[in-house]
Amino acid sequence: MGQLVTPFFGFEVGDGKIVSFWKDKWCGTTPFCKAFPSLFAIATSKEAWVNEVWTAEGERRGSWTPCFNRPFNDWEMEEVGRLLCCLDGKMVRVDEEDRVRWMESKNGIFSVKSLYRALQPVSLASFPSKIIWNSYVQPKISFFAWEASWGRVLTLDRLQKRGWALANRCFLCQTCGESIDHRLLHCERTREVWTLLLSFFGVSWVFPYSVKETLLG
Ligand SMILES: [Zn+2]
Repeated sequence: MGQLVTPFFGFEVGDGKIVSFWKDKWCGTTPFCKAFPSLFAIATSKEAWVNEVWTAEGERRGSWTPCFNRPFNDWEMEEVGRLLCCLDGKMVRVDEEDRVRWMESKNGIFSVKSLYRALQPVSLASFPSKIIWNSYVQPKISFFAWEASWGRVLTLDRLQKRGWALANRCFLCQTCGESIDHRLLHCERTREVWTLLLSFFGVSWVFPYSVKETLLG
């Protein structure tokens, strides 16, 4: 569990005593050692805490003073510029403690929902929402397509999972078990309709396994 969630935690810097300037995520979503590798390579203190890189001038003012082993080369200036841009507006506040921040929600507070979303970026990104929620399609059909894509239509296999004691057999072909993917795509009776329909357009197509992938296809 620790390994699962650790990558999504970062820091909100207060007094900067427990946050590593180069190695922790506290400014943006990537540690500076990864965002600015060539600057990290010449950094004098790679283990510096954030407060060691900040020079305070009074209570609410100060400047960032990272130290490097040698003067910069021309080609490193672009990275220096980007580092300074990142640091712009950030400051160390002596009167506040550093806090852990959950990076996957806007308010920085952990929620299971945001973790779930973070762990499934690919499948959420490739959900066929534009095809389903389309203004040319009647709402009840859109809703059915949405249910079918998530596999939430109450076909016999789902009723069984809900504890109904019944035999699962497709009403159309009487051979396979019923699921939404079978009913809409793979059943031999359904397939006859698809073949007929596709033949009008001269298309022959191998169907993906699920309704969602079919809509994406
Ligand atoms: Zn069938």
